[in-house]
Amino acid sequence: MFPEYVKVPEKIDVKPIELEASKSALIIVDMQNAFAHEKGRLFVPESRKTIEPIKKLLEKARSKNVLVIYTQDWHQKDDPEFSVWGEHAVAGTWEAEIIDELKPIDGDVLIRKLRYDGFYGTYLDDVLRMRKIVNTVITGTVANICVLHTAGSAALRGYKVVIPIDCISALSMFDYISTLRQVTFLYRGLLTTHEGIKFV
Ligand code: ZN
Repeated sequence: MFPEYVKVPEKIDVKPIELEASKSALIIVDMQNAFAHEKGRLFVPESRKTIEPIKKLLEKARSKNVLVIYTQDWHQKDDPEFSVWGEHAVAGTWEAEIIDELKPIDGDVLIRKLRYDGFYGTYLDDVLRMRKIVNTVITGTVANICVLHTAGSAALRGYKVVIPIDCISALSMFDYISTLRQVTFLYRGLLTTHEGIKFV
């Protein structure tokens, strides 16, 4: 019914960007044991390749006092989402913890969420607004699920979305590229790499 290969519709621009540190937030989506540790029940193998780039970006952000925000999938025992994905990231369990390599430090904001969208039913928007954040640099996993929903939700609320493409991961190349297409085409987000971001 569908062609096996689909042409990427246009060249997707990836370029360096300067962001004002005090008006930017680095959001790390769901880099939890459930998704980014090989023993996690919804492990995304590609997520392992993003750990180093995210770590470097995190160090860069911290050195410039950029607001750092982590989202965590944080489900109750009988969450309806489990009918789709099976049980994962139950509140307070090992799977719900951020992976050791990217552990939060004091001063970072933790957003525990029930749904794909980091804004849904959380105080993420309030945190960003109170600090007069304009730019959201969004990283993490899964690209076409929680990253995309959070990026879309940020854009719809008027935040600029920046995605370092080496800092997000998906279960397939199709999912990964379609995320980049949605972010740029639909939400007018900007694509760069972890090295391409300069906080000034
Ligand atoms: Zn979930």
